[in-house]
Amino acid sequence: MAEAAQPCPWHLDDWQQRIRRDQQPHAWLFSGPAGIGKRLYANALAASLLCSQPVPGPACGTCRNCLLAQAGTHPDWLLLEPEEPGKMIKVDAVRQLVDFMAQTAQQGGRKVIVLHPAEAMNNNAANALLKSLEEPTADTYLLLISDQPSQLLATIRSRCQQVSLSLPAPDEALAWLQDAQPELDQATAQQLLVMAAGAPLRALELDQQGAAEWRSDVVAGVKQLLKGEQGPTALAERWKAVPLLLLLDWFCDWTLDLLKYRQGVGELSANADMDKVLGYMADRLDMAALQAWQDWLLAHRGMLLGKANLNRVLLLESLLLQWKQLMSRR
Ligand SMILES: [Zn+2]
Repeated sequence: MAEAAQPCPWHLDDWQQRIRRDQQPHAWLFSGPAGIGKRLYANALAASLLCSQPVPGPACGTCRNCLLAQAGTHPDWLLLEPEEPGKMIKVDAVRQLVDFMAQTAQQGGRKVIVLHPAEAMNNNAANALLKSLEEPTADTYLLLISDQPSQLLATIRSRCQQVSLSLPAPDEALAWLQDAQPELDQATAQQLLVMAAGAPLRALELDQQGAAEWRSDVVAGVKQLLKGEQGPTALAERWKAVPLLLLLDWFCDWTLDLLKYRQGVGELSANADMDKVLGYMADRLDMAALQAWQDWLLAHRGMLLGKANLNRVLLLESLLLQWKQLMSRR
């Protein structure tokens, strides 16, 4: 038996309370950061609305409606999204929605529309949707999902029940990610979550894009730099796919570890892949240079967070040159 749709564990309590209500609104707006499981939440809610069970609750997973929903072929479940990720949802798509709302449910029950991401609707599409929201159809439910609800028409927002979904706690995010991707070691999983600003599904996506390879390539590059096998310019070019903030975060972490080495503090942070390099560097550190380096690094990280327009290649070249010079020559 296929499993019935479920939201992420950190949304489960909220979802279970929501699906047990006797009266449900005709339109919801689910918002929250990207990559936290909003779509899974909405899909699980859609499945429970379509399920033939007479009592409000989770989808049974076995009735005809549930089987059609699991197969992705339920005729009364409409998914509206851009034709390609990052593109707009056009008015034609919303007209499709209007037609769908007007027709009778083919399975004789409810109809559900999931629209994602709602901020991708162009003006015409948004206005067409607004009409549908103003004249709700019986037994038809509209589930809007948005990473940026402030970009929606206020009149759309006000006609929806707004549900703001939250991030999981860091421990829960880490456990989920390692469960979803058992090959990930803890340090890599933590790095991925940092990259994803704590959003576990985004972290998983980054992993699938090869972010773990970025990390190992950067670690390998740092070793080559110290051995004189690669220059800063070549490395800056080689790492062009790696987000700059992420690179700065890694160097910040490593700098803290260098300080801990010098102070003889036992436990290091999650940088096992850099242990040998950092140990080698710590024995040769120019402490005056380290202080100036840390100031420089934090200042540039701050500028980057403030969306300063930094020249990426120049910044990386300077960073790598300074990193190498942290070791006093002997
Ligand atoms: Zn069912």
